[in-house]
Amino acid sequence: MIDVYPFDLPLATPYRWSKGTQHSRAGLIFRVTLDGAVGWGETAPPPHLPVDGEKLKGEALDVLKDLDPYREDFIGRLDERTPAPRIRTGITTAWIAAKAAAEGLSFAEYLGKGWRQPVTQVPVNGLVGEADPAAVVERCGQIWDQGIRTFKIKCTDDHALDDQRVAAIRAAFPDATLRLDPNEAWTPENMLSRLEHMSQHEIQYCEEPIPSAYTLANLDRFARLREQSPIPIALDQSVTSTEITKRIIDAKAADVLILKSQAMGGFDHAVEIIRLGEAAGILSVMTSSLETAVGLTASLHGAAILPPPLPACGLSLGRFYARDIAVKPEIDNGIMQVPAGPGLGLSSVDLT
Ligand SMILES: [Mg+2]
Repeated sequence: MIDVYPFDLPLATPYRWSKGTQHSRAGLIFRVTLDGAVGWGETAPPPHLPVDGEKLKGEALDVLKDLDPYREDFIGRLDERTPAPRIRTGITTAWIAAKAAAEGLSFAEYLGKGWRQPVTQVPVNGLVGEADPAAVVERCGQIWDQGIRTFKIKCTDDHALDDQRVAAIRAAFPDATLRLDPNEAWTPENMLSRLEHMSQHEIQYCEEPIPSAYTLANLDRFARLREQSPIPIALDQSVTSTEITKRIIDAKAADVLILKSQAMGGFDHAVEIIRLGEAAGILSVMTSSLETAVGLTASLHGAAILPPPLPACGLSLGRFYARDIAVKPEIDNGIMQVPAGPGLGLSSVDLT
């Protein structure tokens, strides 16, 4: 049986990034039940786009119509209907988690079956979106106190302000690992000068600096920019499928791959991309998409099958929710414990 629940939850902390500031989060939760084994999944639309929950649910029910979750070729038959990637993520996560639960395995163990023993602990980074340079330092202090040593700093097209923010963080935290994420806000023309300026602050990598549409249409040109960059370049929004990831790797257009199950259409695809990155010697970092505890926990399991030693993954977004659908994984000394299962191992899910 497959149940679909729209949700719309207020955020406790506004989510500020290059595409605006969000105050609530809406999407779909899926529950697949196979002979009593339960699996959960989430569809999380891009944060800056308006969501009509009932319409989204209708779209999901359309692609699910008359599909039998007991059939082994359930995902193949779903794919014949070409579901939108984020809807595919919600459905397939719940289905795979239910299959895992039916075998008494955790989601991570099921994904890694036959090729990877999942780790049990995942280090996380802390997200810094505040605009004011004093506020970012305060925020970084809170993150540091959680034992997190990697800060991911959201950047915008306000270069002067970002320069102040990053300089303030580096001055206050000389030992922290810093990552930048302009979320496509820079341009092919200013990308290198931005990176050269930021390189004085010792940056681990910079995510998706310029619009992904340009990057993917000009992969060789982007690869040359990457080559000249004093800071390693991560691609995030561009990593949407196995085929595109192959093209990115062949063109040598990325030093790091940021993996988001929502963008890739689910964790079966994530497994393919993790293996591609590993074969090419490219670092992969699992990141959640401002999801509820359901999507966040699924991404935590997905992170557990990255090649060890694990990089700090983007999983500390639970704090944005004023209330959540389930108990989110805790961060202890900068580490999240991967639930032992079965399935996602969620301790309670409340859809009221
Ligand atoms: Mg990013």
